[in-house]
Amino acid sequence: MPSNKTALIIGASRGIGLGLVRQLHGAGWQVTATVRTPARATELQALPGVQIESLDIDDSAALDALTQRLQGQVFDLLFVNAGILGPDHQSAAQATAAELGQLFMTNVTAPIRLAERLVGQLRPQTGVLAFMSSGLGSVANPEGNNLALYKASKAALNSLTNSFVCQLPEPRPTVLSLHPGWVKTDMGGENAMVEVADSCRGLIAQVERFAGQGGHHFVDYQGQKIDW
Ligand code: NDP
Repeated sequence: MPSNKTALIIGASRGIGLGLVRQLHGAGWQVTATVRTPARATELQALPGVQIESLDIDDSAALDALTQRLQGQVFDLLFVNAGILGPDHQSAAQATAAELGQLFMTNVTAPIRLAERLVGQLRPQTGVLAFMSSGLGSVANPEGNNLALYKASKAALNSLTNSFVCQLPEPRPTVLSLHPGWVKTDMGGENAMVEVADSCRGLIAQVERFAGQGGHHFVDYQGQKIDW
């Protein structure tokens, strides 16, 4: 059923990003999906009407080019999903400058650079700006210390998001920092507890629940508030 709603999903080649596109498309949304390699995005190509755009979020020139291509489009939802785990060792002591630079560029800086460019294209009053955080990004969360660098990157994303939001002129969009659950994807692994489809259904429900409310909220896919 067409809904006349529009979404831009960043990092949609696989995993949760692809799941979000599938469900929004299935619900009649007009979806624009970014991937690093459009020629390999066969699952997205099979979804009629989905606009596929090329983007490596680490590449500022590519962000500028995407912004140019999307000029004039209005989005009900801008969802920055792309993210990486970082080096296998996850150790501050062992990490090289290159490893840290890569992790914090992709998970922290690039999402905000993208949001800076595109936040003005959110629908006034009801547009939602969503970032894929993680429950591990909560400083209050004692778990996941085997993923210490990843945890730090998501905590930093939450912090930078807050600074970004606080500097936006009024009226501000609703901003969500979302935890998708521990999801069965390449990143989450096969022991994860949550199916992609269930996570995405819940994430979209949170977007619909918070649209129009304003503020910056850190919640999981089931709507539970998470401590910063
Ligand atoms: P996957 O590893 O399955 O997918 C990651 C996605 O991010 C891929 O589409 C990948 O594209 C894209 N990506 C990575 N780097 C870049 C980049 N530089 N530019 C553009 N796209 C990029 O992960 P998930 O689907 O599991 O995770 C999605 C998000 O959810 C991430 O932000 C992750 O941190 C977060 N998350 C996941 C959890 C889980 O349990 N799975 C739990 C909590 C949070 P490509 O195919 O080109 O590599």
